[in-house]
Amino acid sequence: MPALEKRECDALYRTRKVLCGPQGTLVRINGKSCLSFCSNDYLGLANHPDVVAAFQQAAGQFGVGSGAAHLISGHHDLHRALEEELAEFTGRPRALLFSSGYMANLGTVAALVGRSDAVFEDRLNHASLLDAGLHSGARFKRYPHVDLNSLKKQLSESSAQRKLIITDSVFSMDGDIAPLQKLAECAKQHNAWLMVDDAHGFGVLGNQGAGCSEHYGLSHYELPILMATLGKAFGVYGAFVAGSDALIETLIQQARTYIYTTALPPAVAAASRASLRIVKAEQWRRDKLASLIKQFRHGARQLGFELLDATTHIQAIIVRGNERALSISQGLFEQGLLVSAIRPPTVPEGKARLRITFSALHTEAQVNQLLTALELYA
Ligand SMILES: *Cc1c(COP(=O)(O)O)cnc(C)c1O
Repeated sequence: MPALEKRECDALYRTRKVLCGPQGTLVRINGKSCLSFCSNDYLGLANHPDVVAAFQQAAGQFGVGSGAAHLISGHHDLHRALEEELAEFTGRPRALLFSSGYMANLGTVAALVGRSDAVFEDRLNHASLLDAGLHSGARFKRYPHVDLNSLKKQLSESSAQRKLIITDSVFSMDGDIAPLQKLAECAKQHNAWLMVDDAHGFGVLGNQGAGCSEHYGLSHYELPILMATLGKAFGVYGAFVAGSDALIETLIQQARTYIYTTALPPAVAAASRASLRIVKAEQWRRDKLASLIKQFRHGARQLGFELLDATTHIQAIIVRGNERALSISQGLFEQGLLVSAIRPPTVPEGKARLRITFSALHTEAQVNQLLTALELYA
């Protein structure tokens, strides 16, 4: 059977929904208003008036396109300012902006390791990290999800010159948080580097929202390669890597996805700076998320759903079959609720699920509306 047809038969065929309004808890799809539980705009900043105003003001002053790559003539004062603020916020000596998280991961891993080295990745790492490991040409090992004993065994058996351990902080599909303190100790014992992708933690974890390094209190000596994105909780676009001066200089010289691509528009950097001010100042957004998550978990358990043992803004209801996941998601959509069905290969076979993400802008009533709609499928 041709590959596309097979996908369709297996209930794996993917289609896109077209939004025709701003990102938010209520979105317009084909003219219809839907209550969305599948955005990464965790703090509700994608359409925040201050962020929008910063973007507009900078576009008015500096135009839209950056015009060139950073090393040619595209590196703007707004990029420099944002990098300095991100370094300070994450408690790192320096930070380097990339045009997207995918590119940050590909470029960073390939700049740091090669043929005589080895990469060790959690099995549930984001696709961009798995691609980065494979693309680097280093020996590629995966360990079972957060299984430190397996990782230690793989590390002691490895004769690679450099060893790089890579993990998500908050896992994108399961919503659990990696044991970074233990991973940092393990890296130290085995003379390995630790790289953490904080795409889902940055802005949300930690008292100030500085992410996983703040949450666990890990310095750049313990967690030397910190990557995070600006398109999720920050509500904008782009990504960065933070760490030592030597790390950042290495990336500027060697990360091909940094060197050979157009710099982010300066106005995008201005928007992220505005987001950063809100992330730091408005603790209520993180508190609100925490209380919505608690409300959802309590309600979903009462309905008898199988939840994962994770308490972050990413929640999964395991429904197992691909078709069942898809049909519940479609049923919810007909009731005006947007909840995504996540199927293999994004998650393992037999682990299809509904993935529910929360935003600080959801209300208690909206979470109740979700729980009521789910009752039909309990
Ligand atoms: C979203 C995401 C990325 C990719 O970031 P983009 O800026 O969207 O390219 C990388 N890693 C993780 C864990 C992500 O969730």
